[in-house]
Amino acid sequence: MTITRPITHHPDDGVLLAHAAGTLGLAPRLVVGAHLEACSTCRARVARFEAVGGAMLDAQAPEALASDALERAMAALDAPAPVEPPPRLAPASFPLGIALPRSLAGQRLGPWRWTAPGIEISKVEGLWKTRERCFLLKAAPGVTVPHHDHDGVELAQILTGALIDEDERFEVGDCAQAEPGLRHQPQSDPKDGCICLIAIDGRTRPSQWTGRLIQRFIDI
Ligand SMILES: [Zn+2]
Repeated sequence: MTITRPITHHPDDGVLLAHAAGTLGLAPRLVVGAHLEACSTCRARVARFEAVGGAMLDAQAPEALASDALERAMAALDAPAPVEPPPRLAPASFPLGIALPRSLAGQRLGPWRWTAPGIEISKVEGLWKTRERCFLLKAAPGVTVPHHDHDGVELAQILTGALIDEDERFEVGDCAQAEPGLRHQPQSDPKDGCICLIAIDGRTRPSQWTGRLIQRFIDI
């Protein structure tokens, strides 16, 4: 993804550190991965965290190696390099020319499903029955997402258009991070709408009866 504007909204250091340490769950990892593809600032930050982590490991007292460690290391060297799967192209209902982030390569995406007036989602399958959920959200121009809060962190990487949340504008390449308990009602750009990749930790809690009714049907 080539983005010419400066990216102004990033995941916080706690999220980037967890990504560098490999402790981030799969759903947020897919979203942070999509952000890192677009953001050189965060790529550099993650590389720094990884370097610090490596230096800390090096500083630890060496432990006795398992007797077969050398054998296993040599076998790993001889093993064929993992082949990175090609990025999946968007399903047919995506606007033409939109390619998915490479972080979604190998993931199965469900079809676009109506979720609320002007809003459709495509679930990353296999992640839907877990505590963490990941999905693409497509909002028509000028649509307001139903008012809600959530149990855990919500991350949204903007892939097309723009999103306005809490008086802030998030454009392509930006990552909007909402902390647990924040009650918010994001809106899509009035002209371009928005497609974003979202990870939610835990359940959303719609604040209005319409949202609660929709939640019974789509289990978000
Ligand atoms: Zn960034």
